[in-house]
Amino acid sequence: MAQALAGPLAVISDLHSNLEALEAVMADIRAAGVKRIACLGDVVGYGPDPEYCIDTVRAHCEVAILGNHDAAVFDGASDFNPNARAAVEWTRKQLEPGFLSLHAKRARWRWLQELWSQPKRRMWSEGRFLLLHGSPRDPVREYVLHTDGYLNPDKVAAIFAGFTGVCVGGHTHHPGLIDDDFRFHEPEFSAATATMELPAGRKSFVNVGSVGQPRDGDARACYAILEEERVTWRRVQYDFRPTQRKIRERGLPEALARRLELGR
Ligand code: ZN
Repeated sequence: MAQALAGPLAVISDLHSNLEALEAVMADIRAAGVKRIACLGDVVGYGPDPEYCIDTVRAHCEVAILGNHDAAVFDGASDFNPNARAAVEWTRKQLEPGFLSLHAKRARWRWLQELWSQPKRRMWSEGRFLLLHGSPRDPVREYVLHTDGYLNPDKVAAIFAGFTGVCVGGHTHHPGLIDDDFRFHEPEFSAATATMELPAGRKSFVNVGSVGQPRDGDARACYAILEEERVTWRRVQYDFRPTQRKIRERGLPEALARRLELGR
C-alpha cells in the first residue's frame, strides 16, 4: 500500500439519481483542476435520473464503492422507509433490462450488479485513507452520526478501532469531521468552501456530505477534495427545480421533491 495519496482526490457520495446536482459538481471538480474522483456510493435511489448518474460514475470515477441504495436494487428495500423503498422499486424497474433491451441498458445494469456482488468493492484504501459508504465495521449500512461522539462514545470508539488513519464516508448526508477526541466539527459554509486540517498521526472520520440530497439544512450540493493533510468541502449551487419536476412527473414520492429545496 502506498504511503500517501496519489494526488488530490475529489470524493463524491450520495448522488441519488440527481442529474442536475451531479452535473454542477462535475463542473466544479473540473474548475478546481482535480483530476481524480472517487464515489462512495448511493449513485441511485430517491431521484429521477439513475441512468445519467451511473453513466457519469462509470466514465469519470477511478473508484466506485457500493452504497445501501445501490445494494437495495438487488437485495430489496424491506428495511427502508416507505418513500425510500418506493424509489428503490421505481429505480429497479427503470434499470432492469428486458429481453429486447439495448446494449447500453444491459451494460449499465451489469455495472451496478458487479458493484453490488463484489465484496472487495465496499472499501478502498490509499495511503492512510480508508474510503467507504458507512463505517469500517459495516461499510454499506452503518450510520456514523454527527451526534454519536457525545451520545454514543462507545460506538465511535469501536468505529475508530476499525481504521488506522483517516476514514472517509458518506451515508448520513451530513458533512463534517469527527476528531480522535470524538468531537464533531461542522464545516462553516458562509463561503462555498470549508477546509480542515488532517494532521499526520491523528485519526479522524470525515463525512463528505451528499451531492444529490443534502440533509444539513443547506440545499447546495456537497462534496470534498482530499489532500494528504487536509480536506476541503465544497458547496455547489444548482437548480433543483427541474429535478423536483421530474420526481413529480415520474411518480416518485412528493416528499423526495420537497426535501431538495429544504436541504433536509
Ligand atoms: Zn444516501
